[in-house]
Amino acid sequence: MAFSDSLGSESQFDAVLVGAGIMSSTLAVLLHELEPDMRILIIERLQAPALESSAAINNSGTGHAANCEFNYTPLNPDGSINIQKALEINHSFETSLEFWASLTELQRISPSKFLHVLPHISFVWREEDIVFLRERYTRLRTETPFKDMEWSEDKEELKEWIPLIMNGRNCNEKVAATRMNRGTDIDFGSLTSSYLNELIQSGAVELRLSTEVVDIQKSNRDSWRLSLANKTETYCVKSPFLFLGAGGGALSLLQKSGIPESNIYGGFPVSGQWLVCNDPSVTKKHNAKVYGKSALGAPPMSVPHLDTRWVSGERSLLFGPFAGANTKFLKNGSNIDFFRSINLRNFSPMVQAGIENFDLIKYLLSQIQLNHTAKIDSLKTFFPEAKSKDWSLAIAGQRVQIVKKTSHGGVLKMGTEVVTSSDGSLAALLGASPGASTAVSIMLEVLKRCWSEKMSTYYWQNRLRQLVPSFQLDVNTDKSLLDKIRLRTDSLLGLS
Ligand SMILES: Cc1cc2nc3c(=O)[nH]c(=O)nc-3n(C[C@H](O)[C@H](O)[C@H](O)COP(=O)(O)OP(=O)(O)OC[C@H]3O[C@@H](n4cnc5c(N)ncnc54)[C@H](O)[C@@H]3O)c2cc1C
Repeated sequence: MAFSDSLGSESQFDAVLVGAGIMSSTLAVLLHELEPDMRILIIERLQAPALESSAAINNSGTGHAANCEFNYTPLNPDGSINIQKALEINHSFETSLEFWASLTELQRISPSKFLHVLPHISFVWREEDIVFLRERYTRLRTETPFKDMEWSEDKEELKEWIPLIMNGRNCNEKVAATRMNRGTDIDFGSLTSSYLNELIQSGAVELRLSTEVVDIQKSNRDSWRLSLANKTETYCVKSPFLFLGAGGGALSLLQKSGIPESNIYGGFPVSGQWLVCNDPSVTKKHNAKVYGKSALGAPPMSVPHLDTRWVSGERSLLFGPFAGANTKFLKNGSNIDFFRSINLRNFSPMVQAGIENFDLIKYLLSQIQLNHTAKIDSLKTFFPEAKSKDWSLAIAGQRVQIVKKTSHGGVLKMGTEVVTSSDGSLAALLGASPGASTAVSIMLEVLKRCWSEKMSTYYWQNRLRQLVPSFQLDVNTDKSLLDKIRLRTDSLLGLS
């Protein structure tokens, strides 16, 4: 392997983004829109963009807007339902929709390639879950973003909403559902490719594939120096700004950067599997994403759901996820990823988080033992007449849940976290959920923290308002603003 360390101007960039998934590509679009002359490099270890978590088959493709996912409306200690997170996630998704609408208007992307309108339904059949769902519905319905949510316990009506789920069900069983028709299925892999194709064709971004970032160092006060390796050589590039959008690979890169902010993090990998059906005679009978309530001790990301999906334009049905267990941080990663991430600083928080989440570990162990028949039995609680022969197993993407050292010890976090260096020269994204749906808000947060001076300029503020009309406004409390924004978004994206 040859070694080249010529740091000429061709190796200097204004921004280097590691990983060619939905996060880096979203940030690249934003940076290019705000600073068209910026020299941006994206580095990807695989042979094409969006082959890890952002690939459609590796995630659920739900445009997470808290329409149907129970984990965004947890219980308060007094037993009431907390809807704060649901409002935040809905707002974040609305921001993504606004951004996609603006790029559609500019003819940079085409929604038909990545977005399908699809009802989002919550469905329950246990008495206590029906009580919870009714309460959730009552609370959310009074909030503007959820004002169109529908409720039904009427079996004939539910047969129209979700025939596969209702047919063959015990007629004495009580069931209930809520529905939001303004839901979506998103192919985040397609969207990533659309973003990148446009940026590369216009010369705005350079993408280096089959190239891995193997080391990161601060070369002087103003610059990061990255060691890159491809099949034939190892060489370096430099940049004053570095974004680690490496998905499951972000934690180890953050640790390599040596910034003190990295010391409080560890990661716990959870792999996933789906049952997939491609038989058109079955898939055409279901037209929704239907989320149930998770089992006791199950982590939020394991909430079972039966979804209509479009993967690379092909319609299919997907049920899951079933958790798997391995020690990789990326689907195309190494079995020693997890062990390499443990160090003296995060060891004890990791052990403590493990002890405090014993239910989760028990749940994961129980999932690993499920064979195909047991998985089909689980599917039948949703879709009673499912036939085993129609369904095959697919491996989903890898999630790395954050373990964070706090004053209370190690805490397992289910969300996404932006970590930035104190000088704003480096940002990394850890965690998985709600993930891709909120990529635009997350990247706006990166800009706020790392480009604070520019963010306060008239030019950036004005440009951001053109791209995201509700930028810095509160759509959740201003009904007329939300209606106006949705009118524009829906017409440009064909959502109505
Ligand atoms: C099972 C599952 C279901 C999900 N469901 C949903 C959902 O329904 N809705 C939703 O919004 N989100 C969902 N998510 C989350 C969503 O998929 C992720 O948040 C999102 O795809 C993360 O994008 P990313 O760009 O950060 O990472 P990725 O898409 O994983 O991209 C990271 C890239 O970095 C590259 N890389 C890693 N290390 C290096 C290195 N050292 N050098 C160079 N390149 C490197 C990788 O090869 C990869 O291409 C789900 C995730 C999973 C796993």
